[in-house]
Amino acid sequence: MAQLIGKDVTLGYEGNVVIEHLNFSVQTGDYLYIVGENGSGKSTLMKAILGLKSPMAGTITTGDGLQPDEIGYLPQQTAVQRDFPASVLEIVRSGCLNHSGFRPFYTKQEKQLALDNMERLGITHLAKRCYRELSGGQQQRVLLARALGATQKMLVLDEPVTGLDPKAQLELYELIAQLNRKDGITILMVSHDMEAAVKYASHVLHISKTPLFFGTKEDYLRSKIGQTYTGGTEA
Ligand code: ADP
Repeated sequence: MAQLIGKDVTLGYEGNVVIEHLNFSVQTGDYLYIVGENGSGKSTLMKAILGLKSPMAGTITTGDGLQPDEIGYLPQQTAVQRDFPASVLEIVRSGCLNHSGFRPFYTKQEKQLALDNMERLGITHLAKRCYRELSGGQQQRVLLARALGATQKMLVLDEPVTGLDPKAQLELYELIAQLNRKDGITILMVSHDMEAAVKYASHVLHISKTPLFFGTKEDYLRSKIGQTYTGGTEA
């Protein structure tokens, strides 16, 4: 059974259609790349997947034990966020709150979870550092640890390597691949980086005004659209 199923989905704003008749299904442990030109509707689709936007037609449903609130999200970083005056530990912990209501303390389990998530992302040694003093790559790891939070099932990432130098990009990609392979976390990655898609994806959803492709990476690379966008790169 699939974790996420889109059936004949149409999305848009105030009657203006952005994406039509989109069909996709994501199985537990998949690594899906969502690719497409600027303005093709990737962010709009993400909002719908996160339950922040209702489809004009069709349905997006979760399954295989995934609850909508168990989808972690790493938004595109803005300059304001990069200047956030809090410690690494505070930021990671804030994502580990069990959302059963507000309270002014963290439970023992939540504290432990924050430590575990920092360990997984290799940022334990940064716990007491101020977030805004970190490098871009370190900051993204902190936000990824936060996004992991209490959810261990699915992560939606919006262009997470933007602005990082090539070494930091590779490190972040490898960490994400490890979360996918080792921990079985399903990854939905929005990106322009076709080289990374070829390297890491199990599936590709290529969207434009009409959905152009959904399927395995291997089928994508064999398809006309995949050949065009990847320049015929082999996996
Ligand atoms: P992408 O993430 O692929 O760049 P978007 O999902 O941001 O694409 O945008 C898809 C289309 O929807 C664009 O034409 C954009 O102008 C339009 N759009 C995005 N957000 C809104 C909004 N809040 N209101 C109206 N139109 C929007």
